[in-house]
Amino acid sequence: MSRVRFLAVSDVHGKEDLVDKFIEWVQRDSLPYDFVVAAGDMGNPQRPGSMCRILKKIASSLKKNVYYVKGNWDIEGSCGDPAVLDLDETGPLFFGNIVLVGHGRRAEPYDIPRANNVTVLVTHYPPYSILDRGKVIDSNHRSLHAGVVDINYLIDVYRPRVHIFGHSHSYGGLDVEHNGVVYVNVARLDRLLKNGESIGNYAVIDVGGSGDVRVEWRFINGTWKRCAGCGRVVHIPEKWALCRRCAHKSELKFTKITGVPYRARLVIKDPLTQKLVYSKEVRIPFYTLKDYQTLEEFVDAVVLREAKSFLSDGSSKVLELPKDKVLEFYNSSSAKRLTPFSEYLFACDESVSGSKLCLLMRVFSADKQAHVMWKISEEAETGRRLLEQYVLFKEEQASMLNFLVRRLSEAGFRVLAYSLEALQG
Ligand SMILES: [Zn+2]
Ligand SMILES: [Zn+2]
Repeated sequence: MSRVRFLAVSDVHGKEDLVDKFIEWVQRDSLPYDFVVAAGDMGNPQRPGSMCRILKKIASSLKKNVYYVKGNWDIEGSCGDPAVLDLDETGPLFFGNIVLVGHGRRAEPYDIPRANNVTVLVTHYPPYSILDRGKVIDSNHRSLHAGVVDINYLIDVYRPRVHIFGHSHSYGGLDVEHNGVVYVNVARLDRLLKNGESIGNYAVIDVGGSGDVRVEWRFINGTWKRCAGCGRVVHIPEKWALCRRCAHKSELKFTKITGVPYRARLVIKDPLTQKLVYSKEVRIPFYTLKDYQTLEEFVDAVVLREAKSFLSDGSSKVLELPKDKVLEFYNSSSAKRLTPFSEYLFACDESVSGSKLCLLMRVFSADKQAHVMWKISEEAETGRRLLEQYVLFKEEQASMLNFLVRRLSEAGFRVLAYSLEALQG
């Protein structure tokens, strides 16, 4: 039976001194392992050449192959070292019936037969909703999720047994098994204590050809001790009393989603005329989502993605206007005042801020999930031009808010309403 054991790291952001510490710790720990997986952000664009220098140093010091994917910080080309391999270039690698497949820049999935294979997927970004806490700034959905919807779809294609990723720093060092997938967030190798001491974490992952998986964590400058929460003997920084799993218990509450169709038809209509605007079959890989709340957000993100792409064409682009931009672009008052969003939301003054802004604020106060989108053309001579303004609602909301839909249309917005109909299978 095949079996692989490897070390997995990510997110050292070009800090070569911390990589030296990592190498030192791995060498001290005389663990057997076959190779190293690096899930991105190993380099730093402000330190040219750092990604390849770091990956080569790991490969040559540990005398193992390093398989990596690029992260958002990694802007270098191929490293030109036979022991440092970009999984976007190698394609899927087979170790008996265990398949290692990675996606850094490449979005298109490979064709891997699922039967009898145990797949280990490597990406830099987390899937949407899984160990993906981020900052609002790098989120794709105005929430605290830094995960990316496309990754959920890659999981849906591969059905991996293990998914390794980084990027979301605050939930690095955690693993969770959910609906048959072991998710391992290996961020970050450059973790520091407040006093500057390095406590970067890395995972030791053991995968068997029958699908058995073991994930063990190690910390630079860590020590073996009993966790005060769960009582397991774990390798953690000296100053910590709890393992990461106990320290982040609330984040690890996952719900099994049931009764949701995997296949659905997305239908977008004009709510005033009931005319069909768009219809397409979509998949909802709900088993890759943490709980019902994130399911709702995920579906919303999928609908928005579909709507944006079908409304765009070769010469124009559709983008969503976040609420703060709605406030900025539609406010007719030029006076600089510090007015909180909630004041606009509940007491918008048309004579000051203008009727369009106040109308949109009424929309948001009635339906937080409504989306304002702009279609923008890009022409060489005239530059950017606003072609169309849309407001997208869920169908139930649009019919409940009929009066607002009418007023939006009178004010020049194109209103769209969507619904999802379950399909069999
Ligand atoms: Zn990143
Ligand atoms: Zn614990």
